[in-house]
Amino acid sequence: MKTIFEKSNNVPGITLCDEEAKMDFLDSKFFRTSEIGLPNVSELEALRHYKELSDRNFCIEKGFYPLGSCTMKYNPKVNELLASLEGFTDLHPLSDDCDCQGALELMYKLQEALKEVTGMDAVSLQPAAGAQGELTGMMVIKKYFEVKGEKRTKVIIPDSAHGTNPASAHLCGFEIVPVKSNDRGQVDTDALKSLIDRDVAAIMMTNPNTLGIFEENVLEISKIMHENGSLLYYDGANFNAIMGYSNPKLMGFDVVHLNLHKTFATPHGGGGPGAGPVGVVEKLKDFLPAPVVDFDGQKYFRNYNIKHSIGQVKAFYGNFSVLVKAYAYILMMGQNLKEASENAVLNANYLKEKLKNAYLLPYDEPCMHEFVLSGEKQKHENGVSTLNIAKALMDENTHPPTVYFPLIVHEAIMIEPTESETKDVMDDFVKVMLKIADEAKINPEKVISAPHSTPVKRIDETLAARHPNLKFVQE
Ligand SMILES: *Cc1c(COP(=O)(O)O)cnc(C)c1O
Repeated sequence: MKTIFEKSNNVPGITLCDEEAKMDFLDSKFFRTSEIGLPNVSELEALRHYKELSDRNFCIEKGFYPLGSCTMKYNPKVNELLASLEGFTDLHPLSDDCDCQGALELMYKLQEALKEVTGMDAVSLQPAAGAQGELTGMMVIKKYFEVKGEKRTKVIIPDSAHGTNPASAHLCGFEIVPVKSNDRGQVDTDALKSLIDRDVAAIMMTNPNTLGIFEENVLEISKIMHENGSLLYYDGANFNAIMGYSNPKLMGFDVVHLNLHKTFATPHGGGGPGAGPVGVVEKLKDFLPAPVVDFDGQKYFRNYNIKHSIGQVKAFYGNFSVLVKAYAYILMMGQNLKEASENAVLNANYLKEKLKNAYLLPYDEPCMHEFVLSGEKQKHENGVSTLNIAKALMDENTHPPTVYFPLIVHEAIMIEPTESETKDVMDDFVKVMLKIADEAKINPEKVISAPHSTPVKRIDETLAARHPNLKFVQE
Protein backbone atom coordinates (compact mmCIF):
# COMPACT_ATOMS: atom_id res chain seq x y z
CA MET A 1 0.00 0.00 0.00
CA LYS A 2 1.28 3.46 -0.90
CA THR A 3 1.34 6.37 1.49
CA ILE A 4 -0.89 9.27 0.57
CA PHE A 5 2.21 11.22 -0.48
CA GLU A 6 3.18 8.51 -2.93
CA LYS A 7 -0.33 8.64 -4.33
CA SER A 8 0.00 12.39 -4.83
CA ASN A 9 0.26 13.54 -8.48
CA ASN A 10 2.96 15.85 -9.73
CA VAL A 11 0.91 19.00 -9.83
CA PRO A 12 2.68 21.54 -7.63
CA GLY A 13 1.45 21.41 -4.06
CA ILE A 14 -0.48 24.05 -2.25
CA THR A 15 1.34 27.20 -1.29
CA LEU A 16 -0.31 29.27 1.36
CA CYS A 17 1.34 32.50 0.26
CA ASP A 18 -1.17 33.72 -2.27
CA GLU A 19 -0.90 37.45 -2.73
CA GLU A 20 -4.54 37.70 -1.77
CA ALA A 21 -3.94 35.92 1.49
CA LYS A 22 -1.33 38.44 2.52
CA MET A 23 -2.83 40.80 4.97
CA ASP A 24 -1.69 44.29 5.78
CA PHE A 25 -1.34 43.72 9.46
CA LEU A 26 1.03 40.78 9.15
CA ASP A 27 4.74 41.43 8.78
CA SER A 28 6.01 39.93 5.53
CA LYS A 29 8.68 37.96 7.38
CA PHE A 30 5.88 35.68 8.57
CA PHE A 31 4.74 34.85 5.01
CA ARG A 32 5.35 31.34 3.77
CA THR A 33 7.60 31.27 0.75
CA SER A 34 7.73 27.57 -0.03
CA GLU A 35 5.12 24.96 -0.72
CA ILE A 36 3.72 23.31 2.37
CA GLY A 37 3.96 19.87 0.84
CA LEU A 38 0.42 18.63 1.20
CA PRO A 39 -0.42 15.64 -0.99
CA ASN A 40 -2.28 16.37 -4.18
CA VAL A 41 -5.06 13.83 -4.40
CA SER A 42 -8.70 14.15 -5.33
CA GLU A 43 -11.31 14.04 -2.61
CA LEU A 44 -12.35 10.57 -3.74
CA GLU A 45 -8.75 9.34 -3.71
CA ALA A 46 -8.31 10.68 -0.20
CA LEU A 47 -11.50 8.94 0.86
CA ARG A 48 -10.35 5.62 -0.62
CA HIS A 49 -6.96 5.98 0.99
CA TYR A 50 -8.39 6.36 4.48
CA LYS A 51 -11.01 3.66 3.92
CA GLU A 52 -8.24 1.27 2.90
CA LEU A 53 -6.27 2.19 6.02
CA SER A 54 -9.31 1.72 8.22
CA ASP A 55 -10.00 -1.69 6.66
CA ARG A 56 -6.62 -2.79 7.96
CA ASN A 57 -7.53 -1.88 11.47
CA PHE A 58 -8.85 -4.54 13.78
CA CYS A 59 -11.75 -3.45 15.96
CA ILE A 60 -14.52 -4.93 18.05
CA GLU A 61 -16.89 -4.52 15.08
CA LYS A 62 -14.67 -6.89 13.10
CA GLY A 63 -14.22 -9.81 15.43
CA PHE A 64 -13.69 -11.27 18.89
CA TYR A 65 -11.40 -9.07 20.99
CA PRO A 66 -10.58 -10.92 24.24
CA LEU A 67 -7.85 -8.51 25.34
CA GLY A 68 -7.43 -9.31 29.02
CA SER A 69 -7.55 -6.41 31.50
CA CYS A 70 -8.96 -4.09 28.83
CA THR A 71 -12.67 -5.01 28.87
CA MET A 72 -13.28 -4.66 25.14
CA LYS A 73 -17.05 -4.82 25.46
CA TYR A 74 -19.59 -3.60 22.95
CA ASN A 75 -19.82 0.20 22.95
CA PRO A 76 -23.45 1.02 22.15
CA LYS A 77 -23.73 3.28 19.10
CA VAL A 78 -26.57 5.25 20.66
CA ASN A 79 -24.02 6.67 23.13
CA GLU A 80 -22.18 8.28 20.21
CA LEU A 81 -25.41 9.83 19.03
CA LEU A 82 -26.08 11.32 22.46
CA ALA A 83 -22.53 12.60 22.88
CA SER A 84 -22.77 14.34 19.51
CA LEU A 85 -25.88 16.36 20.40
CA GLU A 86 -25.22 20.02 19.57
CA GLY A 87 -25.98 21.12 23.10
CA PHE A 88 -22.95 19.14 24.22
CA THR A 89 -20.56 19.57 21.31
CA ASP A 90 -21.08 23.33 20.90
CA LEU A 91 -20.74 24.11 24.57
CA HIS A 92 -17.75 26.20 25.59
CA PRO A 93 -15.95 24.80 28.62
CA LEU A 94 -15.74 28.28 30.14
CA SER A 95 -19.46 29.02 29.89
CA ASP A 96 -20.97 30.44 33.05
CA ASP A 97 -22.55 27.88 35.34
CA CYS A 98 -25.99 29.33 34.63
CA ASP A 99 -25.49 28.78 30.87
CA CYS A 100 -24.57 25.12 31.09
CA GLN A 101 -26.87 23.67 33.73
CA GLY A 102 -27.62 20.62 31.58
CA ALA A 103 -23.98 19.62 31.22
CA LEU A 104 -23.30 20.27 34.90
CA GLU A 105 -26.37 18.24 35.88
CA LEU A 106 -25.10 15.36 33.76
CA MET A 107 -21.68 15.48 35.42
CA TYR A 108 -23.22 15.75 38.87
CA LYS A 109 -25.51 12.80 38.26
CA LEU A 110 -22.65 10.76 36.85
CA GLN A 111 -20.65 11.54 40.00
CA GLU A 112 -23.64 10.37 42.07
CA ALA A 113 -23.96 7.16 40.04
CA LEU A 114 -20.26 6.42 40.44
CA LYS A 115 -20.53 7.10 44.17
CA GLU A 116 -23.29 4.54 44.32
CA VAL A 117 -21.49 1.79 42.41
CA THR A 118 -18.21 2.28 44.28
CA GLY A 119 -19.65 3.13 47.72
CA MET A 120 -17.35 6.18 47.85
CA ASP A 121 -18.40 9.55 49.32
CA ALA A 122 -17.08 11.93 46.65
CA VAL A 123 -15.96 11.63 43.03
CA SER A 124 -13.83 13.71 40.65
CA LEU A 125 -14.42 13.22 36.93
CA GLN A 126 -11.24 14.97 35.84
CA PRO A 127 -8.62 12.27 35.19
CA ALA A 128 -8.42 11.26 31.55
CA ALA A 129 -7.38 7.64 32.06
CA GLY A 130 -6.97 4.93 34.65
CA ALA A 131 -3.28 5.71 34.99
CA GLN A 132 -4.02 9.39 35.55
CA GLY A 133 -6.64 8.37 38.11
CA GLU A 134 -3.93 6.41 39.91
CA LEU A 135 -1.63 9.42 39.92
CA THR A 136 -4.48 11.62 41.17
CA GLY A 137 -5.27 9.11 43.92
CA MET A 138 -1.62 8.92 44.95
CA MET A 139 -1.41 12.72 45.06
CA VAL A 140 -4.51 12.78 47.29
CA ILE A 141 -2.94 10.19 49.61
CA LYS A 142 0.35 12.08 49.70
CA LYS A 143 -1.29 15.39 50.55
CA TYR A 144 -3.52 13.74 53.16
CA PHE A 145 -0.46 12.61 55.11
CA GLU A 146 1.29 15.94 54.57
CA VAL A 147 -1.64 17.82 56.06
CA LYS A 148 -1.75 15.33 58.93
CA GLY A 149 1.92 15.96 59.52
CA GLU A 150 2.93 12.35 58.93
CA LYS A 151 5.90 11.43 56.83
CA ARG A 152 5.04 8.25 54.97
CA THR A 153 7.24 7.29 52.07
CA LYS A 154 6.29 3.77 50.93
CA VAL A 155 3.52 2.22 48.85
CA ILE A 156 3.03 -1.55 48.85
CA ILE A 157 2.07 -3.12 45.52
CA PRO A 158 1.39 -6.82 44.78
CA ASP A 159 3.72 -8.49 42.27
CA SER A 160 0.71 -9.23 40.04
CA ALA A 161 -0.10 -5.51 39.62
CA HIS A 162 -0.48 -3.61 36.38
CA GLY A 163 2.69 -1.67 35.55
CA THR A 164 0.91 1.67 35.87
CA ASN A 165 0.50 1.10 39.65
CA PRO A 166 4.19 1.28 40.57
CA ALA A 167 4.72 3.94 37.88
CA SER A 168 2.04 6.22 39.35
CA ALA A 169 3.21 5.79 42.94
CA HIS A 170 6.83 6.35 41.89
CA LEU A 171 5.93 9.46 39.91
CA CYS A 172 4.39 10.77 43.11
CA GLY A 173 7.66 10.28 44.95
CA PHE A 174 6.82 7.10 46.83
CA GLU A 175 9.16 4.19 47.28
CA ILE A 176 7.62 0.99 45.85
CA VAL A 177 7.56 -2.10 48.06
CA PRO A 178 6.44 -5.23 46.21
CA VAL A 179 4.46 -7.89 48.06
CA LYS A 180 4.42 -11.41 46.68
CA SER A 181 1.42 -13.52 45.74
CA ASN A 182 0.75 -16.90 47.30
CA ASP A 183 0.24 -20.17 45.40
CA ARG A 184 -3.43 -19.32 44.93
CA GLY A 185 -2.58 -16.11 43.08
CA GLN A 186 -3.58 -13.82 45.95
CA VAL A 187 -1.69 -11.37 48.15
CA ASP A 188 0.30 -13.33 50.73
CA THR A 189 -0.96 -11.77 53.97
CA ASP A 190 1.99 -13.02 56.04
CA ALA A 191 4.39 -11.44 53.55
CA LEU A 192 2.31 -8.28 53.73
CA LYS A 193 2.47 -8.16 57.54
CA SER A 194 6.25 -8.40 57.44
CA LEU A 195 6.39 -5.26 55.26
CA ILE A 196 4.26 -3.07 57.48
CA ASP A 197 5.81 -0.15 59.29
CA ARG A 198 4.97 3.49 60.00
CA ASP A 199 6.48 4.58 56.68
CA VAL A 200 3.79 2.78 54.68
CA ALA A 201 1.35 5.29 53.18
CA ALA A 202 -0.82 2.86 51.24
CA ILE A 203 -1.32 -0.39 49.39
CA MET A 204 -2.52 -0.36 45.77
CA MET A 205 -4.67 -3.36 44.93
CA THR A 206 -6.77 -4.62 42.06
CA ASN A 207 -9.69 -6.85 43.03
CA PRO A 208 -10.36 -9.14 41.29
CA ASN A 209 -6.64 -9.01 40.63
CA THR A 210 -4.92 -9.23 37.27
CA LEU A 211 -5.11 -13.03 37.37
CA GLY A 212 -8.89 -12.64 37.43
CA ILE A 213 -8.92 -14.02 40.97
CA PHE A 214 -10.87 -12.43 43.81
CA GLU A 215 -8.67 -11.48 46.77
CA GLU A 216 -10.45 -13.39 49.52
CA ASN A 217 -8.40 -11.78 52.28
CA VAL A 218 -9.18 -8.23 51.29
CA LEU A 219 -10.98 -7.46 54.59
CA GLU A 220 -8.05 -8.75 56.61
CA ILE A 221 -5.70 -6.70 54.43
CA SER A 222 -7.84 -3.62 54.95
CA LYS A 223 -7.69 -4.18 58.71
CA ILE A 224 -3.91 -4.61 58.69
CA MET A 225 -3.45 -1.40 56.70
CA HIS A 226 -5.92 0.75 58.64
CA GLU A 227 -4.53 -0.39 61.98
CA ASN A 228 -1.21 0.92 60.74
CA GLY A 229 -2.79 4.25 59.79
CA SER A 230 -2.24 3.45 56.10
CA LEU A 231 -4.73 3.82 53.26
CA LEU A 232 -5.96 1.42 50.57
CA TYR A 233 -6.06 2.32 46.88
CA TYR A 234 -8.39 0.34 44.61
CA ASP A 235 -7.42 -0.02 40.95
CA GLY A 236 -10.90 -0.30 39.42
CA ALA A 237 -9.82 -1.57 36.00
CA ASN A 238 -11.45 -4.90 36.80
CA PHE A 239 -14.68 -3.40 38.06
CA ASN A 240 -16.62 -5.15 35.29
CA ALA A 241 -16.47 -8.30 37.41
CA ILE A 242 -18.28 -7.04 40.49
CA MET A 243 -20.82 -4.34 39.63
CA GLY A 244 -23.76 -4.55 42.01
CA TYR A 245 -22.25 -7.53 43.83
CA SER A 246 -19.60 -5.78 45.84
CA ASN A 247 -17.81 -2.46 45.87
CA PRO A 248 -14.48 -1.06 47.02
CA LYS A 249 -16.07 0.58 50.09
CA LEU A 250 -17.36 -2.78 51.32
CA MET A 251 -13.88 -4.20 50.79
CA GLY A 252 -12.35 -1.43 52.91
CA PHE A 253 -10.75 0.81 50.28
CA ASP A 254 -10.29 4.57 50.66
CA VAL A 255 -9.49 5.72 47.11
CA VAL A 256 -10.73 4.24 43.83
CA HIS A 257 -10.35 4.88 40.15
CA LEU A 258 -12.68 3.53 37.51
CA ASN A 259 -11.90 3.21 33.81
CA LEU A 260 -15.04 4.45 32.05
CA HIS A 261 -13.52 3.24 28.77
CA LYS A 262 -13.42 -0.29 30.15
CA THR A 263 -16.35 -0.91 32.49
CA PHE A 264 -18.71 1.76 31.23
CA ALA A 265 -18.60 1.06 27.51
CA THR A 266 -16.89 4.13 26.12
CA PRO A 267 -14.68 3.31 23.13
CA HIS A 268 -10.96 2.91 23.66
CA GLY A 269 -7.83 1.80 21.95
CA GLY A 270 -5.53 3.76 19.73
CA GLY A 271 -4.59 5.99 22.62
CA GLY A 272 -7.73 7.67 23.80
CA PRO A 273 -9.73 9.58 24.81
CA GLY A 274 -10.69 7.89 28.05
CA ALA A 275 -11.82 8.80 31.52
CA GLY A 276 -10.56 7.63 34.89
CA PRO A 277 -12.77 9.19 37.58
CA VAL A 278 -11.52 8.98 41.14
CA GLY A 279 -13.69 8.33 44.17
CA VAL A 280 -12.68 8.81 47.80
CA VAL A 281 -14.07 8.25 51.29
CA GLU A 282 -15.30 11.17 53.39
CA LYS A 283 -11.97 12.02 55.06
CA LEU A 284 -10.26 12.49 51.67
CA LYS A 285 -13.01 14.59 50.11
CA ASP A 286 -11.21 17.87 50.73
CA PHE A 287 -8.20 16.72 48.72
CA LEU A 288 -9.86 16.05 45.36
CA PRO A 289 -8.88 18.02 42.25
CA ALA A 290 -10.90 21.23 41.92
CA PRO A 291 -13.45 21.87 40.66
CA VAL A 292 -15.99 19.18 41.45
CA VAL A 293 -19.56 19.64 40.34
CA ASP A 294 -21.96 20.42 43.18
CA PHE A 295 -25.68 21.08 43.60
CA ASP A 296 -27.07 23.61 46.08
CA GLY A 297 -30.67 22.40 45.80
CA GLN A 298 -31.45 24.88 43.01
CA LYS A 299 -28.57 24.98 40.62
CA TYR A 300 -25.51 22.99 39.66
CA PHE A 301 -22.15 24.71 39.98
CA ARG A 302 -18.42 24.12 39.69
CA ASN A 303 -17.03 24.09 43.17
CA TYR A 304 -13.46 25.40 43.41
CA ASN A 305 -13.68 25.78 47.15
CA ILE A 306 -11.98 22.55 48.14
CA LYS A 307 -9.86 23.05 51.20
CA HIS A 308 -6.77 20.93 50.54
CA SER A 309 -7.32 20.32 46.83
CA ILE A 310 -4.33 18.86 45.02
CA GLY A 311 -5.22 21.31 42.22
CA GLN A 312 -6.36 20.60 38.70
CA VAL A 313 -5.13 17.44 36.94
CA LYS A 314 -6.74 17.95 33.54
CA ALA A 315 -7.78 20.93 31.45
CA PHE A 316 -11.32 22.01 32.27
CA TYR A 317 -13.39 19.12 33.67
CA GLY A 318 -12.08 15.96 32.04
CA ASN A 319 -13.04 14.35 28.73
CA PHE A 320 -16.61 15.53 28.71
CA SER A 321 -17.89 13.55 25.70
CA VAL A 322 -16.60 10.35 27.30
CA LEU A 323 -18.56 11.24 30.43
CA VAL A 324 -21.73 11.70 28.38
CA LYS A 325 -21.33 8.23 26.84
CA ALA A 326 -20.69 6.56 30.19
CA TYR A 327 -23.67 8.29 31.76
CA ALA A 328 -25.90 7.17 28.87
CA TYR A 329 -24.65 3.61 29.34
CA ILE A 330 -25.35 3.65 33.08
CA LEU A 331 -28.89 5.00 32.56
CA MET A 332 -29.55 2.48 29.83
CA MET A 333 -28.32 -0.43 31.95
CA GLY A 334 -29.73 0.49 35.36
CA GLN A 335 -30.05 -2.60 37.51
CA ASN A 336 -28.76 -4.67 34.59
CA LEU A 337 -25.21 -3.57 35.37
CA LYS A 338 -25.32 -6.42 37.84
CA GLU A 339 -26.30 -8.83 35.09
CA ALA A 340 -23.46 -7.52 32.91
CA SER A 341 -20.96 -8.52 35.60
CA GLU A 342 -22.72 -11.84 36.05
CA ASN A 343 -22.39 -12.67 32.36
CA ALA A 344 -18.83 -11.41 32.13
CA VAL A 345 -17.88 -13.83 34.92
CA LEU A 346 -19.90 -16.69 33.45
CA ASN A 347 -18.33 -16.22 30.00
CA ALA A 348 -14.79 -16.20 31.42
CA ASN A 349 -15.37 -19.35 33.45
CA TYR A 350 -16.88 -21.07 30.41
CA LEU A 351 -13.82 -20.32 28.26
CA LYS A 352 -11.44 -21.27 31.07
CA GLU A 353 -13.02 -24.70 31.45
CA LYS A 354 -13.01 -25.29 27.68
CA LEU A 355 -9.34 -24.33 27.27
CA LYS A 356 -7.68 -25.59 30.41
CA ASN A 357 -6.81 -29.01 29.02
CA ALA A 358 -5.16 -27.74 25.86
CA TYR A 359 -3.22 -24.97 27.63
CA LEU A 360 -1.70 -24.79 31.07
CA LEU A 361 -3.87 -23.07 33.71
CA PRO A 362 -1.40 -22.04 36.43
CA TYR A 363 -4.05 -20.96 38.95
CA ASP A 364 -6.91 -23.45 38.68
CA GLU A 365 -9.48 -21.48 40.65
CA PRO A 366 -12.94 -20.20 39.79
CA CYS A 367 -12.21 -16.95 37.98
CA MET A 368 -13.99 -13.65 37.82
CA HIS A 369 -14.28 -11.77 34.49
CA GLU A 370 -10.95 -13.00 33.07
CA PHE A 371 -8.38 -15.74 33.50
CA VAL A 372 -4.75 -16.34 32.69
CA LEU A 373 -3.46 -19.35 30.76
CA SER A 374 0.17 -20.13 30.11
CA GLY A 375 1.74 -21.14 26.81
CA GLU A 376 4.54 -22.99 28.63
CA LYS A 377 3.32 -26.41 27.52
CA GLN A 378 3.49 -25.41 23.83
CA LYS A 379 6.81 -23.66 24.39
CA HIS A 380 8.53 -26.61 26.02
CA GLU A 381 6.97 -29.42 24.03
CA ASN A 382 6.77 -27.81 20.60
CA GLY A 383 8.98 -24.73 20.67
CA VAL A 384 5.93 -22.54 20.04
CA SER A 385 5.82 -19.40 22.19
CA THR A 386 2.86 -17.43 23.45
CA LEU A 387 3.81 -14.70 21.00
CA ASN A 388 3.53 -17.24 18.17
CA ILE A 389 0.10 -18.31 19.38
CA ALA A 390 -1.02 -14.67 19.55
CA LYS A 391 0.17 -14.08 15.99
CA ALA A 392 -1.58 -17.25 14.77
CA LEU A 393 -4.86 -15.91 16.18
CA MET A 394 -4.56 -12.92 13.86
CA ASP A 395 -4.98 -15.27 10.91
CA GLU A 396 -8.32 -16.31 12.39
CA ASN A 397 -9.93 -12.85 12.51
CA THR A 398 -9.44 -12.80 16.27
CA HIS A 399 -7.63 -10.14 18.24
CA PRO A 400 -4.95 -11.82 20.36
CA PRO A 401 -5.52 -11.84 24.11
CA THR A 402 -3.17 -9.86 26.34
CA VAL A 403 0.16 -11.71 26.45
CA TYR A 404 3.13 -11.77 28.82
CA PHE A 405 1.08 -10.01 31.51
CA PRO A 406 0.74 -10.42 34.47
CA LEU A 407 4.47 -10.83 34.87
CA ILE A 408 4.18 -13.59 37.49
CA VAL A 409 2.87 -16.07 34.89
CA HIS A 410 5.42 -17.34 32.36
CA GLU A 411 4.18 -17.17 28.75
CA ALA A 412 0.95 -15.60 30.03
CA ILE A 413 -2.19 -15.56 27.87
CA MET A 414 -4.79 -13.37 29.54
CA ILE A 415 -8.33 -13.82 28.25
CA GLU A 416 -11.32 -11.54 28.92
CA PRO A 417 -14.39 -12.29 26.80
CA THR A 418 -16.73 -9.67 28.43
CA GLU A 419 -20.48 -10.02 28.72
CA SER A 420 -21.03 -8.84 25.15
CA GLU A 421 -20.20 -12.12 23.47
CA THR A 422 -22.60 -14.97 22.75
CA LYS A 423 -21.90 -18.62 23.39
CA ASP A 424 -21.52 -19.14 19.61
CA VAL A 425 -18.73 -16.57 19.38
CA MET A 426 -16.96 -18.11 22.34
CA ASP A 427 -17.34 -21.61 20.93
CA ASP A 428 -15.70 -20.40 17.71
CA PHE A 429 -12.84 -18.96 19.75
CA VAL A 430 -12.44 -22.27 21.59
CA LYS A 431 -12.26 -24.09 18.24
CA VAL A 432 -9.58 -21.72 17.01
CA MET A 433 -7.54 -22.00 20.22
CA LEU A 434 -7.74 -25.80 20.12
CA LYS A 435 -6.79 -25.78 16.44
CA ILE A 436 -3.70 -23.70 17.19
CA ALA A 437 -2.78 -26.02 20.08
CA ASP A 438 -3.06 -28.98 17.66
CA GLU A 439 -1.08 -27.19 14.99
CA ALA A 440 1.63 -26.42 17.53
CA LYS A 441 2.09 -30.18 17.86
CA ILE A 442 1.67 -31.29 14.24
CA ASN A 443 3.06 -28.35 12.32
CA PRO A 444 4.85 -26.00 14.74
CA GLU A 445 6.59 -24.20 11.86
CA LYS A 446 3.26 -22.84 10.67
CA VAL A 447 2.47 -21.31 14.07
CA ILE A 448 6.01 -20.01 14.52
CA SER A 449 5.83 -18.19 11.17
CA ALA A 450 2.34 -16.74 11.73
CA PRO A 451 0.66 -14.44 10.84
CA HIS A 452 0.25 -15.45 7.21
CA SER A 453 -2.70 -13.28 6.20
CA THR A 454 -1.79 -9.80 7.46
CA PRO A 455 -0.16 -7.07 5.31
CA VAL A 456 2.74 -6.82 7.76
CA LYS A 457 4.08 -9.97 9.41
CA ARG A 458 6.60 -9.83 12.23
CA ILE A 459 7.96 -6.49 13.21
CA ASP A 460 10.34 -5.36 15.89
CA GLU A 461 7.62 -4.21 18.24
CA THR A 462 9.83 -1.98 20.36
CA LEU A 463 11.42 -0.29 17.39
CA ALA A 464 8.09 0.03 15.59
CA ALA A 465 6.65 1.99 18.49
CA ARG A 466 9.59 4.41 18.48
CA HIS A 467 10.25 4.69 14.74
CA PRO A 468 7.10 3.67 12.90
CA ASN A 469 7.75 2.89 9.25
CA LEU A 470 4.38 3.58 7.72
CA LYS A 471 5.45 2.59 4.23
CA PHE A 472 6.64 -0.82 5.26
CA VAL A 473 4.97 -3.67 3.44
CA GLN A 474 6.45 -7.10 3.82
CA GLU A 475 6.29 -9.57 0.96
C1 LIG B 1 -6.03 -0.68 32.03
C2 LIG B 1 -5.47 -0.81 33.37
C3 LIG B 1 -4.88 0.27 34.03
C4 LIG B 1 -4.59 1.60 33.36
O1 LIG B 1 -5.71 2.22 32.86
P1 LIG B 1 -5.62 3.17 31.58
O2 LIG B 1 -7.02 3.70 31.47
O3 LIG B 1 -5.20 2.33 30.43
O4 LIG B 1 -4.64 4.25 31.89
C5 LIG B 1 -4.47 0.09 35.33
N1 LIG B 1 -4.60 -1.10 35.95
C6 LIG B 1 -5.15 -2.16 35.34
C7 LIG B 1 -5.29 -3.45 36.09
C8 LIG B 1 -5.60 -2.06 34.02
O5 LIG B 1 -6.12 -3.12 33.41
